[in-house]
Parts: sequence; C-alpha cells; structure tokens
Amino acid sequence: MLSRVKSAVANFMGGIMAGGSEHGAGAGAGGSDLPLRFPYGRPEFLGLSPDEVECSADHIARPILILKETRRLPWTTGYAEVINAGKSTHNEDQASCEVLFIKKKTGVTFTPSKNSSVKRRSSLPNGEGLQLKENSETDGITCHYWSLFDGHAGSGAAVVASRLLQHRLVDQLQDIVDILKNSAVLPPTCLGEEPEQPPGHRTLTRAASLRGGVGGPGSPSTPPTRFFTEKKIPHECLVVGAIESAFRAMDLQIERERKTYNISGGCTALIVLYMLGKLYVANAGDSRAIIIRKGDVTPMSSEFTPETERQRLQYLGFMQPHLLGNEFTHLEFPRRVQRKELGKRILYRDFNMTGWAYKTIEDDDLKFPLIYGEGKKARVMATIGVTRGLGDHDLKVHDSNIQIKPFLSPAPEVRVYNLLQYEHGADDVLILATDGLWDVLSNEEVAGAITSFLPNCDPDDPHRYTLAAQDLVMRARGVLKDRGWRISSDRLGSGDDISVYVIPLLHGNKLS
Ligand code: MG
Repeated sequence: MLSRVKSAVANFMGGIMAGGSEHGAGAGAGGSDLPLRFPYGRPEFLGLSPDEVECSADHIARPILILKETRRLPWTTGYAEVINAGKSTHNEDQASCEVLFIKKKTGVTFTPSKNSSVKRRSSLPNGEGLQLKENSETDGITCHYWSLFDGHAGSGAAVVASRLLQHRLVDQLQDIVDILKNSAVLPPTCLGEEPEQPPGHRTLTRAASLRGGVGGPGSPSTPPTRFFTEKKIPHECLVVGAIESAFRAMDLQIERERKTYNISGGCTALIVLYMLGKLYVANAGDSRAIIIRKGDVTPMSSEFTPETERQRLQYLGFMQPHLLGNEFTHLEFPRRVQRKELGKRILYRDFNMTGWAYKTIEDDDLKFPLIYGEGKKARVMATIGVTRGLGDHDLKVHDSNIQIKPFLSPAPEVRVYNLLQYEHGADDVLILATDGLWDVLSNEEVAGAITSFLPNCDPDDPHRYTLAAQDLVMRARGVLKDRGWRISSDRLGSGDDISVYVIPLLHGNKLS
C-alpha cells in the first residue's frame, strides 16, 4: 500500500507515471504479444503518409496538423491537432468523421460486417458525401458523425473506438430507422415537457413494444388497456437510447476482443450525431463540446471526473465494499487521516452528502480514500482521473489485484440541440475538443477567439474553419520559451495532446 501512496503522491505533485498520462492510469500499458486490432496512426481523414505521421510525433517542435487543402469534411468542418510535450510516445487522441446512411435491417438475423444494409460513406476526401440527401433518402436516413477520443495508458482503445464506434451506432439506429423515417419533421423533445404532437406523429409506446410493435388498442389480441401503461416515448429519446447502447456495445466489444488483440488502455469518447435536424452530443469523459452562437456560449457537455462523479463512486463502494479490496475507504476526508488521530473527530463526506459533517475516526478511516486529490489531480483509487469512457478492462490499482473497471462507466451524457429552432450565421459553430484545449482555455476565451478570428476570414473560403481550429490549438499550445510552452499572459501552455473540431452550424440549417 505504501508504494501505492507514493505513486499517488508523485502524481499529485505533477509527476508522470510510467506510460501514463494526465488522466493517470499508468498501469496496464505493458507490452503484449497479441497483434494490434488496428495499426496506430493519425485520423484517416488527415490522409497522412507514414513519414508525415512520424514527423507529427515531434515532441519538441510540436507541429500543428490541419486538414490538407484537398481534403474536405462534411459541412466544411475544420480540424487541427498537436501532439503532447512528451508525456507519451504517441498522440493518444484520435478522431473520425463520416457520413452514415442508415437503412433498415433486412431479414430476421443480422450480421453487421457481412450482411449490412448500411452504406457507410467514406471519409470524404473531397466532401462528395454532402450531396447524399437526395440520394435514396426514401430508403433510409443520412446522418453525419464526428468523434473525438482521448486515450490513456496506451493508444489501443482510442484507435479501436475511432474505427468502430460508428458501426455500433449504425447497428442501433437500424432498429429504429423505420419509426424515425415515418415521424413528423419536428418530433417532440426528450427533455422536459413533451410538446403537443403534430398530426400523424407516431410514438413508440411501451404497450406497442410489448406487443412487438403490432396491433394496438382495440385489436383482437390486445388485453384490456388498463393492464398496459401507454408510456409515450418521443423519437428523440430513441436516438439517445441508440447512442447510449452503441457506447455500451463498443465497450463490450473491446472487452471481448482484447483477448485476441492488443487493445491497450482506455479512452474518453465525445461524439456528435446529426440526424433529422438535430445534433446529438454524447460525452463520456472529460472532453468538452460548446456551441458558440452570436458570440454566446451554450455548453453541450459536462465532464465526468472523480470529483463530478464522487457520489456515484462512493455509493458503489458503499454497496459493494469488496470492490475496495480492503485497501480503500469510500468516505472522503479533507486530508489523509493519521493513526495517531484515532478517536478524534474529523470532517467527512459520504455518498449521500454534498456538505461536510464530523465523525469519530475509526480504523477503517485510515484506509486510502477511494477518491483523492483535487481538480486535474483527483484520482479514483490513486490511479485514474476520468470516470467514464471505453476500455480499461485490465486496469488495476498499482501493485495489487484491485480492479478499477467496476467504477468506470461507458455511459455517455447525451444533449440535444435542435438546429431548426435557431437561425445560424457563418460564424456560429460547435466546438469539440479534448481536455488539452480546455485545461488552459475557458469557454469564454475560446468563444472570444472564434468571434475575433472567423469574421476576418473570407466567408467563401471552405478552409476558414480549419484555420480557426488551428488558431485555437495554437492558443492552447503556445510557443516554446526558456521555461516551457507559454500562452497569452505568460501562462503555461497545454502539454497534453490537443484536438479540435470547429463545426459550422449554418451547413446544418441548409441540410435541414
Ligand atoms: Mg487529454
């Protein structure tokens, strides 16, 4: 246990655990004789040669990578990235961006990889997928997909998720595509009060689902309605459920395939799905999405860290104390409790508390706290600094057999933004970025940078959003001076991997 504490202290003091990252989780990144599921590389849409990938990994020069002139992403999305300042060999962030066409499953059984009725559009080297809307739209629904993953303890999970999560999402959306296709233009919202439904609007009811979606009130085989609660499920909630299920399926796939392949570490996941006039932003981890409209910021995600998820984690430790391995206490104290303090009174916080109260110190309170540290240094079991994401199935507390995975969740928070509800100008954008950006720039600083940068670009230049992404990465990385990377006001620049999308919202309005 002492070595574990030392390791934790080193981390809090700014030390870097071997093979680790700012998310912690240094353990478990060891070598493996198994083949890689996918080779390491940078996002496919960047179209880099092996030499270019190698050059991009210069931890001293830290070149900022942007989309090539010949490359286009849907909606003329901008993208830029830079590698870390030396905390890991590889850039452990990953990204993918695609146009997906969702078609109903055919047949009774379904094998996605071989018998798929889904046509996944390519990475769009020239943006040709943008004209898909009129192409066989009656057979299915065209969606747009952007993703960001921030890996830790190896790049394996992030690479796999960047290649496969969209497939798991398509699997789920196929189940509901017929219902969504037949819906009205403006399905009711999943959040808050349900608005009045337009004529012809169909909702999937619990009763309908229990009957396999056939029949209805009054049909011969239907039992009296008093036995069935007609719970109305808005279509928007079906999409949210599909996304949540896709995250879960992706995590299970990594768990399965790590027995056959070397899939190292874990990753956070932030995705955006554009479907039927709405943006669905799903986040599991500490990346962040914000919308900037007319200079105002609308947060589209919240971060999942040991601090923000303290009560969930403590409750799990309380309910299943064996997960703590007799080494940790689920209680939180303002500082480490020392043996000589036994019998004294100390402030503490349990899973059901937001405030603090006094308790008498007992033997159990001398164990290492389940959650320890503050801000970016907060860790679960002195090991990992993010509490949601994909992978990490083999992650253990240093020098022990205590599993961390039971405390981690692949469940994303999903927020919905109705593009049809607002008018958007050419400078209104959705920003997605890994924590490398947000560690050093606030939402307001990013909004200020965007609103001063974009109006000075040619509005017809399709590259303007990539230039804006490059500007943001530059502001967060800074310039190398005698005392390290520095940004404005001589603040410390981000030493983490930084990846940024700038997605213009005007294009979404045009498509809608
Ligand atoms: Mg990061």
